[in-house]
Amino acid sequence: MRRRSPSNKPKRACGEHPRTRRAISFNQLVVEVLRLTRPNLPDPWVQLSDELANTHARNCRRYAQVHFARYPAVIEFAPQVLWLPRKYRLGLIAHELGHILAPGKSEAEADRAALRFLRVHITYDKRNFPGKGLQVGRRIR
Ligand SMILES: [Zn+2]
Repeated sequence: MRRRSPSNKPKRACGEHPRTRRAISFNQLVVEVLRLTRPNLPDPWVQLSDELANTHARNCRRYAQVHFARYPAVIEFAPQVLWLPRKYRLGLIAHELGHILAPGKSEAEADRAALRFLRVHITYDKRNFPGKGLQVGRRIR
């Protein structure tokens, strides 16, 4: 039997994170983005990124990013996002839209913008994800 010292907290490797049994489609992801976007923002461009797929494989928290290459912005996702349970997707999407609503501002400002304009409260799951944890979104009324 293997033993673990108390200071050696068990860490999950990439790929062992909470996953749905079946991935959603890319179209479903786009619909989820647009549902949250409207009517607060012009529709962003949404795409999957091979580069982010590789980055995600090294850093489990890296699922999405925004860049402002086209109006109002491009949201890029690692394809692994399609396997995430919905609460994480909601948190990630709301957080990235928060960056578009509060461009150039901090991570905390993006979360605040998500709460204020999209009515999504974002917390971080540190139990299943390293470091700062992964966004968990909850819609509020
Ligand atoms: Zn961010």
